[in-house]
Amino acid sequence: MQKREMCNNCGRPQKTCLCAVLVKRHCAYQVVILQDPKEARHALSSAPLLAQSLHDSRLLVGEHFDPEHLFGHHWQRDCLLVFPGDNCMSAETARQRPFRYLLLLDGSWRKVSRLIHLNPWLKELPCLRLSPASPSNYRIRKSPRSDGLSTIEAAVLALNSLSPGDDYSALLAAFEQMIDLQIAAMGEETFLRNYPDKPATKD
Ligand SMILES: [Zn+2]
Repeated sequence: MQKREMCNNCGRPQKTCLCAVLVKRHCAYQVVILQDPKEARHALSSAPLLAQSLHDSRLLVGEHFDPEHLFGHHWQRDCLLVFPGDNCMSAETARQRPFRYLLLLDGSWRKVSRLIHLNPWLKELPCLRLSPASPSNYRIRKSPRSDGLSTIEAAVLALNSLSPGDDYSALLAAFEQMIDLQIAAMGEETFLRNYPDKPATKD
């Protein structure tokens, strides 16, 4: 097989390099993405784009994660999980608390459920439930999260609601470009044949 030329900066193939649209932003939290190893092999994962777009963020691939090792002794106090779990709080409440880490679980609904099953400490964390105003732009993935968002869309929505006055929407440009390039590569016709129902609506 011919070796593809990769971009040294964004790590993607030259033909689908996203450097022109990637941004690099600071935010008030360290964003940590926990990713299922199978999801990590998916070329259209939005998690690497998210990690590249935020200073100080971490993308961790694995099945078992040790909270004390990753976040220190006060992990229960310091971590806010972006997930519609049992311990949900509003963004207004979350803003009053001095969270240091914003956690996201990357993967389809099934893979995320598995991550939680393998890491029961996640259930002890306070959660932030998102209410997307518009359907996801994740037009070419078949098993979206329960809220229908890609991980980068979920992160942008979370950061925007936690940091009023800041707007992280610029992070989505690289994601949109990645999707557009993929659709162009597969051909519009194939796209419409395989994904006639997209964008999915939430009910
Ligand atoms: Zn690049």
